Amino acid sequence: MPETPGNPGVPGTSGVFANQGVPGASGVFANQGAAGAGASGVFGNHGVPGSTGTGAGAGAAGVNLPALRSHNAALVLDLLRTAGAAGISRLELAERTGLTPQAVSKITARLRADGLATEAGRRASTGGKPRTVLRLVPEAGHAVGLHLDRDELTVVLCDLTGAVVAERRAPLDLGAGADAVVEGAAGEVSALLGGVSPLGVGVALPGPLDHTLGVLHRVTGFPEWDGFALREALAARLGLPVVVDKDTNAAALGVAVGTGAASGSGSGFAGGGSFAYLHLGTGLGAGLVIGGVVHRGARTGAGEFGHQVIQLDGPLCECGNRGCIEVLCLDAVGRGALAEAARVLGAGAGNLVGLLDIDLVLLGGRTVAAHEEVFVRGVGAVMEERARREGGGAPVPVLVAPGGARGVAEGAAQLLLAPLFGRGEG
Ligand SMILES: [Zn+2]
Repeated sequence: MPETPGNPGVPGTSGVFANQGVPGASGVFANQGAAGAGASGVFGNHGVPGSTGTGAGAGAAGVNLPALRSHNAALVLDLLRTAGAAGISRLELAERTGLTPQAVSKITARLRADGLATEAGRRASTGGKPRTVLRLVPEAGHAVGLHLDRDELTVVLCDLTGAVVAERRAPLDLGAGADAVVEGAAGEVSALLGGVSPLGVGVALPGPLDHTLGVLHRVTGFPEWDGFALREALAARLGLPVVVDKDTNAAALGVAVGTGAASGSGSGFAGGGSFAYLHLGTGLGAGLVIGGVVHRGARTGAGEFGHQVIQLDGPLCECGNRGCIEVLCLDAVGRGALAEAARVLGAGAGNLVGLLDIDLVLLGGRTVAAHEEVFVRGVGAVMEERARREGGGAPVPVLVAPGGARGVAEGAAQLLLAPLFGRGEG
C-alpha cells in the first residue's frame, strides 16, 4: 500500500481519519493497495461500514461497542454535517444515534481534538441549563473531484461538506493516449490545489470500468483504454490516494449524499430513497441508488444503461452491438430530433422503473442541460403513460438532477468524502 501523504496544510485530515478508523478512510485507503478488493469483499458493497461481520448496526442506529467506534464516529460526523452552521447538541446527537451520552461525549471530544468539530455557541433548552451546540469544521479537510469526459475535463476542490471552494476546466481528448491524459489531468489537479493537501482525488469518467481496482475497461468510443490502471497511474503521479468510478455513479453518489449544489437546490434525495440518475452527454449511462446506497453490482459493472438493446438489428453502436438505446438516442440528438431522443430515453427509463421500482428518475449531462424542458417533458410523458397503463398511483417523477454541469465532478469528490460520514456507499 503506498504511503498516505501527510497533510501539513490542512490540520486534521487523512492522518486523523486513519488513526480513528473512520470507515471511509479505510475504504479509501484500502482502494490504494493491490489487495484493496479484498478489504471490502462482497459484503463491503452492501453492509454498513464498520459493522461487517457483526450483523449489527444496519440502518442509522448506533451501537455502543468499541469495535464499532468508527461507524459511530461516522454517524456523529454525519449529523454534525447535516446540522450545518446551526450545530447540534450532544444530547440530540445521543438521541439521533441511539448512542449513550457518554459515548457521544467521547466521540465529540476526539473530533474536537482533531479539529473536525467545534463549538457553535449555546442554545436554550427546556427546563435545563443552556446546551453547547457543536458543528462540523468544513475546512478541516478537502477532497478533489475530477471529471474526465470524452472532450473536456472539470476538476473541483470540495471542503468536508462537499461545497466547491475551487474549480478548473480544460479541453480534453480522451483518445490522446494514457500518458497525455494522465499528465494533463495531474497538471490540472496540481494547479487547482495551490497549497492544500486533500484527502485524495475522486476520478469520474465514462465506463465500463472496475471501480474496486480502478482499472478501465473498453470505454465506449475509446477501446484503447481497456485494462489501463488509471487509479494506480494517477496516484503515483500525484502522490495522493485516488478512487475511480463511472461518471454516472459519481453523480448519483453526489445526489444521494445531498451536499454542495444538491443541497443548495433544496433537493430531498438524500433520505435513503431509490432513484436512477440518467446521464446523457457524450454517451448515455445510469447511476443507480437503491435504499440510499450506490448500486455497483458484484463486478462494479451495474448501470450500463445505454447499451440495452431496444431495437433488434438497429443501427450499429460504438460498443459493437446494434440498436442500443445510446446509439438511438445520440443519433436522434445529432439529427436535432430532440423529442424523439427524449422518447427513446423515456423508454429506457420506463424499463428501469419497471425492473427496480424506484422512486424517482433524475436527468443530467450536457445534452439534457441544453434542453431540460424537452427531456423532462418527454421522459415524463412515458412515465405518465406507464402509470395509466398499470394503475396503482402517480407516475414516477422525472426531474433535472441537481448539480448542473459540475454534478459529476462534485460527486467524484464524494467518492472520498461520503465514506467519512458513512453515506452513500455500502
Ligand atoms: Zn451500445
